[in-house]
Amino acid sequence: MSDKSKAKWVTHKFGGTSLANADRYRHVATLMNGASLQPFKTAIVVSAMAKVTDALIELTSLAKARDASYTSKLLALKEKHLSAIADLLPTAEASPLIQTIERDIESLSEILKSVWHVQSCSEQIVEFISGHGEIWSAQILNAYLQSEGEKTTWLDARDVLVVESGETSVNVNWPSSQAKMGAWLEKNFEKNKLDKVVITGFVAATSDGVPTTLKRNGSDYSAAIFGKLLKSESITIWTDVDGVLSADPRLVPEAVVLSDLSYQETSELAYFGAKVVHPNTMAPAVADAIPIWIRNTFKPSAPGTKIHTTSTSHAPVKGFATVDNVTLVNVEGSGMMGVPGVAQRLFGALRDVGISVIMISQASSEHSICFAIPMRQTDAAKKAVTQTFHAEIANGLIQSVEINEACSILAAVGDNMANQPGIAGKFLSALGSANVNIRAIAQGSSERNISVVVSSADSIRALRAVHSGFFLSNHTLSIGILGTGGIGSTLLTQLHAESARLRDEFKIDLRVRAIANSTRMRLSKQSGSLENEFPLSNWKDDFKESSQPLDLARFEDHVHADYLPHAVIIDCTSNEHITSNYKRWLERGIHIITPNKKGNTGSLESYRELKELTRSGARHYLYETTVGAGLPILNTLRELIRTGDRLLSIEGVLSGTLSFIFNSFSPEKSFSSVVLEAKAKGYTEPDPREDLSGLDVARKLVILAREAGLAIELADVEIEPLLPDDLQTGSVDDFLRKLPSQDERMLKLAKDAKASGEVLRYVGQITADGKASIVLRRYPQNHPFAQTQSTDNIVAFRTKRYQDQPLIVQGPGAGPEVTAAGVFADILRLSSYLGAPL
Ligand code: ADP
Ligand code: ASP
Ligand code: MG
Repeated sequence: MSDKSKAKWVTHKFGGTSLANADRYRHVATLMNGASLQPFKTAIVVSAMAKVTDALIELTSLAKARDASYTSKLLALKEKHLSAIADLLPTAEASPLIQTIERDIESLSEILKSVWHVQSCSEQIVEFISGHGEIWSAQILNAYLQSEGEKTTWLDARDVLVVESGETSVNVNWPSSQAKMGAWLEKNFEKNKLDKVVITGFVAATSDGVPTTLKRNGSDYSAAIFGKLLKSESITIWTDVDGVLSADPRLVPEAVVLSDLSYQETSELAYFGAKVVHPNTMAPAVADAIPIWIRNTFKPSAPGTKIHTTSTSHAPVKGFATVDNVTLVNVEGSGMMGVPGVAQRLFGALRDVGISVIMISQASSEHSICFAIPMRQTDAAKKAVTQTFHAEIANGLIQSVEINEACSILAAVGDNMANQPGIAGKFLSALGSANVNIRAIAQGSSERNISVVVSSADSIRALRAVHSGFFLSNHTLSIGILGTGGIGSTLLTQLHAESARLRDEFKIDLRVRAIANSTRMRLSKQSGSLENEFPLSNWKDDFKESSQPLDLARFEDHVHADYLPHAVIIDCTSNEHITSNYKRWLERGIHIITPNKKGNTGSLESYRELKELTRSGARHYLYETTVGAGLPILNTLRELIRTGDRLLSIEGVLSGTLSFIFNSFSPEKSFSSVVLEAKAKGYTEPDPREDLSGLDVARKLVILAREAGLAIELADVEIEPLLPDDLQTGSVDDFLRKLPSQDERMLKLAKDAKASGEVLRYVGQITADGKASIVLRRYPQNHPFAQTQSTDNIVAFRTKRYQDQPLIVQGPGAGPEVTAAGVFADILRLSSYLGAPL
């Protein structure tokens, strides 16, 4: 464009992270080079170099506290700037700038010395000192751009920007600032035919010309103010993320970049802690409908987020944010009912002592008012409330002023929430399924925001749970596996093989984070709030090399990490002692999946306790594989009962081991040789008597019976013994040696059965009157029970609906592969209960 004075302005702002060192300044200069910004005039608003504002503020408090280290810290700040300058500029161009900074440091040193002497530091001094980072940063960038041939100058915003500090905000004096801006441009910019100006962010002056600031993180505000003063086409805030994300990426790694947002959505997100832009900073841009772009300095190819009047996206929820360190105050009492002006008095009193109320929730009965404030203002708030309602408290009209510290607010934000039903329900149920206790809820009348207060300990877990509920981002399940025998190790192999596919197809992120056997455990590493998982490709060797002695409490805590929404322990042991922990795990909100029968076959009372804990639907205890391994036996029974069918009887071959033995044993093949074969194939317990005693089948019958609602104990199951008592004692070897003594008796039974065209089966049965027994029975050749093969299980449900022909489930019912697959199916079932789109 030939006449630059007619060109429009664009405003860019670089935060401290974009200006951390000399290299970063160079990088910013390449983004702001003349050619790429044509045909616009460019305002570049800068923050201080990273961490400089913090350091300047610290100097004032150190000096005030008479901590002599402030002098060395001031020198370090000088060095930081001088070395960046030395790196960026040739000596001739560097020296005037170096002199300026040295002079500034000199005068700061004088001021700090006075602070040291008088041991006090006024707000004005802090404001004056803390703004220097921007003064230096702007001059460095300007000098570097000039050395690169850019036609640029710098503007000290204290010369132009006039503000008044309000109670909670800093307000711009627009007419005065506008006039000064015009005059400044006239004198310093237009005349010199420049096309860029580097402007200090953060700093301003009062109407009396006293230096001040726009308060912490104020540079975003500076950008919007100068954007408006210059009538910019657009404002671009350059930072270290790809745009506004659906949640803070440090807390939710799966957060997604939002392509566009409305101003209101953005300020709501900002208000509730999305630090990428700061609340209220956009107001000047909003007034003139100037679009704001959030872009990544380190990835200029990313399109960024556009913030403008109305968002083009129809998604109901755009993002989530959390505010930590919040106190929840609950004022409760019948004296507030129907009394006009109570809320006004309450919030007026809080305002008078400078407390900013972040969230308010009032029940429609007006019996209580609940509000959230910054935790550091707890004492002041308590005092304000008790003083204001002194009389009401004295005469019992207000019964309690309850203070809950260490809370967090979690907010969901989106303009379109108002138009879609069910959003609040989905939000709350995501929290419920992550076992997060909600202490207060508020929905703004705009319905642009739903906020809940949760305990700080739950905050990250809550954030992740709602995020995965709405964003199809990964449903992360923190998994601990107990037991690395046949089932546990096969499950690990299956998880390893399938986890990538599950993540891609169904967004289920199954993270095995702890593995233990009976003596040792291995936990994933944790660094900060994010985690360094261990890979499953080589888990066996890894376990050998870097496991530690088992500490079940630590194992449990590790699996139940605060920042992962859902945790599950998979008990692949058959250990009774482990099951005594189930109750506590469920109470803590850890889900349980297990093929271990001991959990459900202890006392009826403890079984009922476990079931009671899962009744609300927030905690899950899944044990499909305790009966029939991978076969859908318990689920079938559950569905029949749930849909109103009535159970008449259950009959079944419920042990893969015994099934194999009776399927193989015949007049031609001795009983003892079949038992030995089963043992060799790994189908029996190490001591085959555990199978042959019928105890294992009895446990399965108890589980089935209890699932059907029958009140039964393990001791109630009548077992017809297969073996005489004298074989039950002694070692396994003794037993195997003595076993052939049974061959003749068994042979006779088999022969008799065969002679009448029948086969022998050791079956469990439950009758409608609740009697459970295990018997050796004969079935005709054409009966379904005679058709079983190898380790098949078979169960026949006779019900009111399936009276003439029973409902039969049959298939391989033992072995690590099918059992682990059944456990895996329970994991997916759990994910689906927790909201995964399966
Ligand atoms: P700058 O130094 O550029 O001003 P800030 O640290 O003030 O940067 O703000 C950027 C940071 O805000 C990001 O690094 C990110 O960690 C954090 N942040 C918090 N919530 C969000 C969000 N919803 N979207 C993007 N960034 C967020
Ligand atoms: N440097 C100032 C601060 O850290 C302003 C800003 O970076 O936005 O608060
Ligand atoms: Mg910032």
